[in-house]
Amino acid sequence: MSLRILLLTTALCLSLPATADIVVTNVRLVDGTGTAASAGELRIAGGLIAAVGPRVPREAGDEIVDGGGQVLAPGFIDSHSHLDRTMFATPDVPGAVNQGVTTIIIGQDGYSELPTADLNARLAASPVAVNVGTYSGHNDLRRRVMGDRRDLAGDGQLLAMENLLDADMRAGSMGLSTGLIYVPGVFSDTREVLALARVAAAHGGRYISHIRNEADQIEAAVEEFLLVGRTTGMPVKLSHIKIAIKSKWGQAPAILARLDQARAEGMDVTADIYPYIYWQTTMAALFPDKNFNDPTGVARNFRETTPPDTLILTTFLADPSLVGKSITQIAASRGQDPVKTYLDLMAQAAIYQMQHPDQEPVERIVGFSMSEQDLTTFLNWPHTNICSDGFDGGHPRGYATFTRILGHYVREKHVLGLEQAVHRMTGLTAAHLGIIDRGLLRPGMAADLVLFDPDTVADRASLTDSKALSAGITRVWVNGVPVYEGQRTLGVHPGRFLPAAPHAPWVPKRR
Ligand SMILES: [Zn+2]
Repeated sequence: MSLRILLLTTALCLSLPATADIVVTNVRLVDGTGTAASAGELRIAGGLIAAVGPRVPREAGDEIVDGGGQVLAPGFIDSHSHLDRTMFATPDVPGAVNQGVTTIIIGQDGYSELPTADLNARLAASPVAVNVGTYSGHNDLRRRVMGDRRDLAGDGQLLAMENLLDADMRAGSMGLSTGLIYVPGVFSDTREVLALARVAAAHGGRYISHIRNEADQIEAAVEEFLLVGRTTGMPVKLSHIKIAIKSKWGQAPAILARLDQARAEGMDVTADIYPYIYWQTTMAALFPDKNFNDPTGVARNFRETTPPDTLILTTFLADPSLVGKSITQIAASRGQDPVKTYLDLMAQAAIYQMQHPDQEPVERIVGFSMSEQDLTTFLNWPHTNICSDGFDGGHPRGYATFTRILGHYVREKHVLGLEQAVHRMTGLTAAHLGIIDRGLLRPGMAADLVLFDPDTVADRASLTDSKALSAGITRVWVNGVPVYEGQRTLGVHPGRFLPAAPHAPWVPKRR
């Protein structure tokens, strides 16, 4: 633990980009705690928040920014991002900053760029516009040791995975992430997950999980998820909470009751969510047993979970003319059965991937299988924070999650109050993730900030234009440096790697 505190201290002391000190005046301060907004000012000095209140001191040479009566809030923290690779290709990270996001947490759904020490070094050499924290992905730990083999891990293989994770935790990983519907994590058993979770917990880490089933067997998957928290004592976060099958719509209160029960036992159980009733994933996710030539699994999925007219291709590099079309539409144009069409598309994508190993992803599909009512129920749970689960394009969530919350769910539908919504994007998220120096408007915290107009803030990205920039985001600062203003990124990259901070020891309320 002392090493991790040292890492954190070192990160805080690293030289900050040279900037003038800034006073942002004439703003409504929404401080990230959930308490009511207040009129005031904020002073930025040396990349940190120096003062905040009704009136703050000024010094000669300060740059004065008139906030025009808009909202000034802590920069948004995205607890589930998939920009692991694309952030290096597009270091301005427009998908994040256009919606006010200043910190992304990658390594999600069991996929991460191992080892974390390399990620840290790469970010030091080639920083990006936003701060980056990462989990260590179970799928990639397993793949390093066992490839895509389908058998259970033996003791030696488990030990090899544990050693990789141990090194990763020492390098500042936040903990273990799993994606138990994906290859190869889908081939693991609970014993394997628990063995790795214990390693993360021993380092004061956390667990975040795309659970094994979000549809017909969601209850069992939630129990497996809770078992990790109960066994290890570490905080556990259920990724992008949802019910993705029509026959279980309306069950959100029952799922939350189970999570509340675990919290009452003393477990640190939380969730994150994106504000859309359609998901996006790889076509392979629709094969429960991962036999990609077998039509029966797909047929069952079409019948019981996601009918082919609700499945729409959002990426298909082998034939981009198919993007935006549903499986039913593509099947009709080919005079084919939808199941056969789906298998053919999978094969076409696989061939393209073999010919273009560097291009990823070569296919993505969205499915409309959630209900608005469940979504708002999950959104209202006090322990749910906002995440994008976003990629650089494809599903609009990658560019528009946070602005969709502020425009649609706050201003238009009044599902959340403004201060509560900002809390769920900042202070709450930081608390869940153990980020101790961001997420609130407090002196001494990093000056990650977003200035936005609550009357006009809105998502603009859609399935047909997934990179459309949000409305109403006026300016974004990362570590005191403006990175986004006037609907454009500014070409500066003040973000840094955020090593994990240890969490408080877990004390069960009763056993
Ligand atoms: Zn996921």
